[in-house]
Amino acid sequence: MSSSAGSSAASSWDGTAARDVLVTLAPIPESRASVATFADVTELKEAERRIRFHAFHDSLTRLPNRALFLEHLAMAIKRAKRKPGCRFAVLYLDIDRFKLINDSLGHSAGDELLVAFAERIRGGLRETDVLARLGGDEFVVLLDDLDRPEVAVEIAERLQALLREPFPLRGREVFAPASFGMLLDTASYEQPDAVIRDADAAMYHAKERGRGRIQLFDRSIHEKARRQLQQETDLRKAIDRSQFCNHYQPIVRLQTGAIGGFEALVRWSHPERGLIPPGQFIAVAEETGLILPLTKQIVEEACRDACAWRSLLEAGGLSVSVNISSRHFLQPGLLDELEETLAATGLPARLLRLEITESALMEDSEEAVRLAQRLRDHGIRLAIDDFGTGYSSLSYLQRLPLDILKIDRSFIARIHLEPADNRNIVEAIVSLAHKLNLTVVAEGIETPEQHRILQEIGCDFGQGYYYSPPVPAREALTLLRAGRFPEEPRFRSLLPAAAEAVA
Ligand code: C2E
Ligand code: CA
Ligand code: CA
Repeated sequence: MSSSAGSSAASSWDGTAARDVLVTLAPIPESRASVATFADVTELKEAERRIRFHAFHDSLTRLPNRALFLEHLAMAIKRAKRKPGCRFAVLYLDIDRFKLINDSLGHSAGDELLVAFAERIRGGLRETDVLARLGGDEFVVLLDDLDRPEVAVEIAERLQALLREPFPLRGREVFAPASFGMLLDTASYEQPDAVIRDADAAMYHAKERGRGRIQLFDRSIHEKARRQLQQETDLRKAIDRSQFCNHYQPIVRLQTGAIGGFEALVRWSHPERGLIPPGQFIAVAEETGLILPLTKQIVEEACRDACAWRSLLEAGGLSVSVNISSRHFLQPGLLDELEETLAATGLPARLLRLEITESALMEDSEEAVRLAQRLRDHGIRLAIDDFGTGYSSLSYLQRLPLDILKIDRSFIARIHLEPADNRNIVEAIVSLAHKLNLTVVAEGIETPEQHRILQEIGCDFGQGYYYSPPVPAREALTLLRAGRFPEEPRFRSLLPAAAEAVA
């Protein structure tokens, strides 16, 4: 005979709240009777309930979390398999620019908005729909038991309409439009994870098309997501195997033809596909965060090469510039990492230049000013890249401790054309930059005429195919040994390999 235990919620006779009671029955040996022990386990049960709630709900919005949502999805998949015609759909919601709200109004205001957002969405759903929070500002909805797929579309549109109204938040009105990814064709799915993944991919697509949109998932999105994943895997491997190398493009002093420094431009030497230009992988590296380890390798190589040139040629003032992605610029730890690399390679900080675009500085301008100041304190110089293609706000040029301004090549390409609009613009930029004590580099000089005009305008440095395309480190040394850039014959003739690269 075994003992049995059970628990029951016993209604109390005096009208107070029900208590949970654990009843244990222990048989009395040699007898048919049992001893019953009653234990009040209300607190225990309550704790257990709370733990379970916690495990399956989001504490902020009290909505189901990912784990519970996956269970709901698994059940929906099973039901749909049993009863064809009984379909479900999934919406993936992501608030647009939520980070901006968080950063400007503070995290607790951000939390309040998330709660209000969840309530509003909940209000637009049917009783049977499941709304869950996956984390951050990402929500998912399971629309089960749909007799027609159009119902899901109607619901999504209704939710979008609800979000057109502002949220009252701490005395302000805040808009929180969201991008929706929608998965309608769910019949072939076996795994709940795959459902969420594809709805997420559609949401991502919706964001790319602009804000506050609904994007339906289809195969091409899946293909794109798969390709991206593959690229990410390849890139990760390539970083581990150090398949990247720097090419260097000289930056030439226009008045004398002397090389003042080099810009490092990364290339991926792919074992099958050959040399891949950065335009084909930098964006993926940025999106996946792989830009951090990649940049570390690039900076190390650039510092090492610059040191080697210095020791071989006594080129004391030769600088090396590296490009820092805007997403990377404000990452904590950048400065420490640069310091470490400088110390390890022995390159003086004043010879290292960071090229960043305007967007990096605009994103969080106060933080950018602070960081730029710290870089300057450490002796590292800062260049603003592609100037003229972004906001081109001149006020921040004044606020930021910058050293160099690089005029985008789109201006240089048309500098010799009549009417002389581009020439006038470049002239204005150069004179303004000089007033702000900035050194000016013109990018993309391809012809002797462009070279001459920039010389006349008083631009300090030039860079472009006219002098040399980016070349491997060894050939950069050849350029340095040759000394100055004479006007004719072009330097390129010294570099058969480089000439091919241009062609
Ligand atoms: P960027 O920083 O503006 O670099 C200049 C680009 O213009 C280089 O392309 C260079 O080869 C090209 N170029 C140089 N002279 C001329 C010319 O006379 N005419 C024309 N049409 N083009 C010229 P590349 O090497 O393909 O790099 C493209 C972009 O990729 C760079 O633009 C930069 O934004 C990014 N990039 C390159 N290397 C790195 C890197 O190490 N890290 C990061 N984050 N980005 C990089
Ligand atoms: Ca650059
Ligand atoms: Ca540039």
